[in-house]
Amino acid sequence: MLPPDPSPASSTVGFVTLGCPKATTDSERILTRLRAEGYLISDSHEDADLVVVNTCGFIEAAVEESLAAIGEALAENGKVIVTGCLGAKSDAILAAHPAVLAVTGPHADEEVMRHIHAHLPPPHDPFSSLVPPQGVRLTPPHYAYLKISEGCNHQCSFCVIPSLRGPLASRPVASILEEAQHLVAAGVRELLIVSQDTGAYGLDLKYRTAFFGGRPIRTRLAELCQALGELGVWVRLHYLYPYPALDDLIPLMAEGKILPYLDIPFQHANPRVLKAMRRPGNIENTLERIHAWRERCPGLTIRSTFITGFPGETDAEFEELLSFLEAAQLDRVGCFPYSPVEGAAANELPGALPRAVREERRRQLMEVQEEISAKRLEEKIGQEITVLVDEIGDEGIIARSMADAPEIDGLVYLDPEFPASPGDFLRVLVTDSDTHDLHAEIIGFGQE
Ligand code: SF4
Repeated sequence: MLPPDPSPASSTVGFVTLGCPKATTDSERILTRLRAEGYLISDSHEDADLVVVNTCGFIEAAVEESLAAIGEALAENGKVIVTGCLGAKSDAILAAHPAVLAVTGPHADEEVMRHIHAHLPPPHDPFSSLVPPQGVRLTPPHYAYLKISEGCNHQCSFCVIPSLRGPLASRPVASILEEAQHLVAAGVRELLIVSQDTGAYGLDLKYRTAFFGGRPIRTRLAELCQALGELGVWVRLHYLYPYPALDDLIPLMAEGKILPYLDIPFQHANPRVLKAMRRPGNIENTLERIHAWRERCPGLTIRSTFITGFPGETDAEFEELLSFLEAAQLDRVGCFPYSPVEGAAANELPGALPRAVREERRRQLMEVQEEISAKRLEEKIGQEITVLVDEIGDEGIIARSMADAPEIDGLVYLDPEFPASPGDFLRVLVTDSDTHDLHAEIIGFGQE
């Protein structure tokens, strides 16, 4: 659902505030924001375009008073957003008043403002209205990165990101979905979901239930993907830590809700090295899971990254990594020679390897993988696939398949004699392949 047109004839918000002084300060912050954005405030439900009820849930009597205030606002106005302490028990509110537009917990001014914007856009502002709703983007118009969280709760010994960016901080699910809708409305055909740790999304918010378009939605990756999958564009997930909950995403991929593309940095395959990296070490289990994922979703593309020459990595441990690659038959692999980062715990580990060894192991790993990648691409010859056009060059049309993320994966080269434009979906027949890319003939416009 798209937000209503901007600049409605009036933008008046009715406001009811119940409870203690902390609730009052929450109300004051929201009212200050509303006035700063040009909304009018009314103490009459009938004169308002929408009513916000800031509730109290301290004792039974306060709960009853809050539910009654919501009921009154619904009866007299019809458009009601609920916030405050009782909002933390959204199920109780929805059971009593299923017609409310949205419910948030206390101290949630950002979320409340977002719901107000969605149901009652702010009056026209000659300065901010010059910025398009999807914001200013650095990517081509047909794809966009969508960040869903910041920071990371892990402590991988080679990484300093948690100390730079802090612990996991997930964005509210409604804010992400709203941004996604604006992007799609502006012509984006592929959403690239990014964060430091995409699979952890919502953990810090205790997977709370939020609201979007009047519908309850959990702050959790599978539910977010389900909702993004309804937008009718490609949704590609990046940076998935190998959590067990990842398995919940595979059915969504098999059903075509999101792209069948898993970007999981495994980093290594030897349990001792993984332990020293402070990463999950059960590699037997990883191979079994890869097998199960491919059984459930045969078109799945798996991309991963690895580190060679980690401190203390022996020849045998490196060989084990190469054997893992042979067994896993991953589609796309990136590899970095270990490089000490100032402040990383791994710098203190014994057994630092010379740069030449770290580099040589990277070269060997990529040699093994290139053969695997080339073989997996060759298996696509003769298949009909969907591609998204990236650019029209002198030598032809350059596109990407579902298996190719922009900038990091391969390309699909097509015949120049076709009236396609960047952002078009095409059906193509794969005719040739090399180590990274495909060549194909165009069948026509459209998706599968
Ligand atoms: S490597 Fe990734 S998962 Fe590990 S600490 Fe760094 S950001 Fe977090």
